[in-house]
Amino acid sequence: MAILITGGAGYIGSHTAIELLNNNREIIIVDNFSNSKKEVLEKIKQITNKNFKYYEIDYKDEDKLNKIFKENKIDAVMNFAGFKAVGESVQKPLEYYENNISGAITLLKVMKKHNVKKFIFSSSATVYGNPEKVPITEDSKTGGTTNPYGTTKLFIEQILKDLYKSDNSWDIAILRYFNPVGSHESGLIGEEPNGIPNNLMPYIVRVAKGQLKELSIFGNDYDTKDGTGVRDYIHVVDLARGHIKALEKLEKENQGLYIYNLGTGKGYSVLDMVKAFEKATGQKVQYKITERRAGDIAICYSDPTKAKQELNWTATKTLEDMCRDSWKYIQNSK
Ligand code: NAD
Ligand code: UDP
Repeated sequence: MAILITGGAGYIGSHTAIELLNNNREIIIVDNFSNSKKEVLEKIKQITNKNFKYYEIDYKDEDKLNKIFKENKIDAVMNFAGFKAVGESVQKPLEYYENNISGAITLLKVMKKHNVKKFIFSSSATVYGNPEKVPITEDSKTGGTTNPYGTTKLFIEQILKDLYKSDNSWDIAILRYFNPVGSHESGLIGEEPNGIPNNLMPYIVRVAKGQLKELSIFGNDYDTKDGTGVRDYIHVVDLARGHIKALEKLEKENQGLYIYNLGTGKGYSVLDMVKAFEKATGQKVQYKITERRAGDIAICYSDPTKAKQELNWTATKTLEDMCRDSWKYIQNSK
């Protein structure tokens, strides 16, 4: 029985594909390569020395998706496909709602038709909006998202809750990621944003590589230890391993809807990240302090206790690992 991975050529999907293959799972990747390169699939094979099927399709294409479910014995689906750029989502709300929400609905409809009911969804800490308290537990209030991207995550979570209410033979894990960074230790795959990166770590590595002049630190007047924004950065390999644990949980329980934070439980400021990167890599990161970025919150970090207790999962990689592996990938890439 195979695990279908939509968006499996992307940043988090490709790392999860590796972990699944390393766990001797059969996988099938579905991707339209709108935000990834086909060569990532070869890299996954090279790293794991294992083979797998892939389909180049848009996951909103119900007929093609149906065909894949007919042709293969699929046991569970991990849905990574979707658009993820916060700023772009403000400019292109219809595209974001269509790709993320219509895509998820199409996928769930096809799953239901083929009686495949194990579903793992890539959600985000963004569903907590501006958190009332930190660390954030899973029962914290959600809502108050500040951009269409975040709202797609909130809506899909609601769709999954309604779906489960209508038919509790579904087995659903909603995984709320904090800030994924780093890359596979081989340095062969990693995060490859289109154009100028929006996220902190991809920006830092490009400054260090000399591709961008300097990092703009968006505000140093937040109510944090040094005034810069605080986030919970998690190594993508730890995150990928969280998916394996979630899958095992669904297989064991066989019915239920579960929500987990996947984070380290530690908050680091932007300046912490710059310093940690310089220390881990020996590279200097030029920066300047600029205005706050619209929609940013001051502090966001997880309470990962529930995932530890129920999934037996904790993040094990250090900030140094995250910085070193991010740097390793960017040195290898063009
Ligand atoms: P990514 O863009 O690297 O990967 C997404 C993959 O989905 C890409 O390979 C893209 O080509 C594919 N895709 C997009 N639309 C598709 C479609 N219609 N049909 C088929 N394939 C399609 O993103 P990522 O960082 O790996 O994120 C994976 C998931 O995790 C996304 O749903 C994202 O919203 C979520 N997430 C990411 C972060 C983060 O910081 N990276 C944080 C929280 C949640
Ligand atoms: N940040 C920054 N400069 C950048 C990108 C990000 O100062 O070029 C800050 C941002 O304000 C936030 C933190 O780094 O405090 C993490 O930002 P990112 O966009 O990576 O994640 P998110 O804000 O979505 O959690």
